[in-house]
Amino acid sequence: MPVKIKAYLQEKGINPSMQRVAVMHYLLNNFTHPTVDEIHSNLSDSIPTLSKTTVYNTLKVLVDNGAALQLTIDEKNTRYDGNITPHAHFICLGCGCVHDVEPIKLDEVSLSMYKNLRITETQVYYKGFCEKCYQEKLLKEAENKK
Ligand SMILES: [Zn+2]
Ligand SMILES: [Zn+2]
Repeated sequence: MPVKIKAYLQEKGINPSMQRVAVMHYLLNNFTHPTVDEIHSNLSDSIPTLSKTTVYNTLKVLVDNGAALQLTIDEKNTRYDGNITPHAHFICLGCGCVHDVEPIKLDEVSLSMYKNLRITETQVYYKGFCEKCYQEKLLKEAENKK
């Protein structure tokens, strides 16, 4: 696996340092849209010298070179995604979990209407409640009515 990730980073023009391989490996094995803190706390067991700043800087390199996506769906935390194929996201306003969703059409903006704009990034976000949080919300509302 690490060998493949090295090649993947090189393909993207990224010098595959140990930290970069570790962070990319984490992203490609955890499609939970983790935050810097999550990635750091999960990797620091195996790489005790890894600082949060290094994780942050590493993610920036991955994002800048198109190896990962940066998501701003969650106002409190920047999240990262190893899935770079265009897709939309759903965030639960209750527990904050982020899911991938496949919209019918994502990249079809009528570009002929905006001739002087060059799109380099598309982010589509949906907000709402996951099944569990929605049930809890309904229960709470029912209780408040009593
Ligand atoms: Zn939820
Ligand atoms: Zn995603």
